Amino acid sequence: MPMNEVARYAVFGNPIRHSKSPQIHAEFARQCEQSLQYRAVFVEMGLFSETARRFFEHGGQGINVTVPFKREAWEFAEVLSERARRAGAVNTLSLAADGKILGDNTDGIGLVRDMVANLGWTIRDNCVLLLGAGGAARGIVELLLRESPRCLQIVNRTSSRAEELATAFADLGPVSGGAYETLDGTRFDLVINATSASLGGELPPLPASLLTERSCCYDMMYAPEPTIFMRWAAQNTAWAVADGLGMLVEQAAESFYIWRGLRPQTGTVVAELRASMGGS
Ligand code: NDP
Repeated sequence: MPMNEVARYAVFGNPIRHSKSPQIHAEFARQCEQSLQYRAVFVEMGLFSETARRFFEHGGQGINVTVPFKREAWEFAEVLSERARRAGAVNTLSLAADGKILGDNTDGIGLVRDMVANLGWTIRDNCVLLLGAGGAARGIVELLLRESPRCLQIVNRTSSRAEELATAFADLGPVSGGAYETLDGTRFDLVINATSASLGGELPPLPASLLTERSCCYDMMYAPEPTIFMRWAAQNTAWAVADGLGMLVEQAAESFYIWRGLRPQTGTVVAELRASMGGS
């Protein structure tokens, strides 16, 4: 990139209007005194590769990728990090010095950092329940297992997807997969909702007996008000409940680190976003 040119980054998605990534990265750049441009790009379905190629050809340095293009970004990348290879999804593309396009996945590290470093929750030696087996779940299983939980159980509406996901990561730790009906009295220390059910105001079929008074519950979705899953957790005496805003900022911070080699402070950014979202 020419010396006097501002580095250009973007988030690609469809829809993209409500993305908070431009606000997050503008704040990271301000904090770290980096001169860069970051914008949200609406990409037509079927045009991901073409749009991404054009972006890099015209001097773009990196792209964050959101729904529904993480799989296409995985296919587009010329070199994959190990975590992205296993996840089968890429949320961070970057241009290497040799001109190659690198694909990484920062969702898992973002979630684990938020739960462990920010919220002070413990995964190690605890029993973890993961709800959902879609793209987001696939991106976090490796990082969860690397924290050495006592067990990781994955349940999904389409149970075969949970079974497949567990099989794909079985070499990394004690993980099993199945249907909601298999939740028969087992209690979990940590329950992570990686379904999109909260988006539609729906709750997966969870028995109340799932939680203890020491359980922590995390909804990867975020909203101005507590989600239906968070309300369910609170009503069932969970010890701590959180939404996915911290994960959003942490996964962005990891992307920023990949691109710029600098680690921004995330706490103030989460607080600013929370305030700008309103809610009671
Ligand atoms: P996908 O569409 O890939 O997967 C959706 C998952 O939700 C599937 O497992 C699906 O089950 C399940 N599901 C959908 N509706 C219901 C329901 N009513 N009851 C039970 N299960 C249901 O979505 P993603 O994995 O990409 O995203 C999931 C969530 O994670 C979203 O809310 C997204 O906003 C959030 N997310 C948050 C991030 C953050 O930074 N905070 C980052 C990435 C995602 P089935 O397989 O049977 O269809």
